[in-house]
Amino acid sequence: MTAQHKPRGDVAVLVPAAGAGVRLGPGPPKALRSLGEQPLLVHAVRRLCAARCVGCVVIAAPPSDVDAVRALVAPEVTAGVVVTVVAGGASRQESVARALAAVPVGFDVVLVHDAARALAPPSLVEAVAAAVRDGHDAVIPVLPVVDTVKVVDADGYVERTVDRSALRAVQTPQGFRRGLLAKAHAAAGADQATDDAGLVERLGVAVRCVPGSELAIKVTRPADLAIAQMLLHSEAPVRS
Ligand code: C5P
Repeated sequence: MTAQHKPRGDVAVLVPAAGAGVRLGPGPPKALRSLGEQPLLVHAVRRLCAARCVGCVVIAAPPSDVDAVRALVAPEVTAGVVVTVVAGGASRQESVARALAAVPVGFDVVLVHDAARALAPPSLVEAVAAAVRDGHDAVIPVLPVVDTVKVVDADGYVERTVDRSALRAVQTPQGFRRGLLAKAHAAAGADQATDDAGLVERLGVAVRCVPGSELAIKVTRPADLAIAQMLLHSEAPVRS
């Protein structure tokens, strides 16, 4: 890599953004739905590019929207950040695996960040990357669970109440040593997990938790878009 093309940071971020967003109701793929004046994906990429540690972003886009996504994110790309768009897969896990395969050599810290958590702040990205650099090979941001949680049977009756004091709700970005993430995905094959740390746990590797962010909500249902809209207005301007 020439000095001219030297990435700004040493962290690569994979952005699975190929989901349909069925739970949001009819409309374009979730990452392309509007939040304020921009699609969710643009908000996400803007915040990733504002984190100084990030030198590479690989987006897994809906296969029919690869060119559209390339054009959409181009204005958000900060000097020194290489942004690549690949076609996503049939599952989130496949989308992540495809994006991982497109990370250039030289990036040893890899974060995975759902486009659906479009407002995750640059400070959260920096905190997760810093924890990986500090020697934790797998890092996840978490928040305490505030609701009472119960196990319910197939007939709709409560089986038991779970002690919530040890429960945490898990967010993205999740951070990994690149080799570990690649090994976890290779070992999983078609066996799905809902997050990447789940694949690492199967290898028996310790996963470190760091404080999450209330801005990093996952837009899943229509009400989440309304909440994200309020958060967007309350947020300080994002700069790179
Ligand atoms: O489906 P869910 O909301 O859990 O998806 C989490 C993230 O994974 C979203 O950002 C979505 O776009 C992405 N995804 C993907 N490829 C799929 C399914 C989901 O990149 N096939």
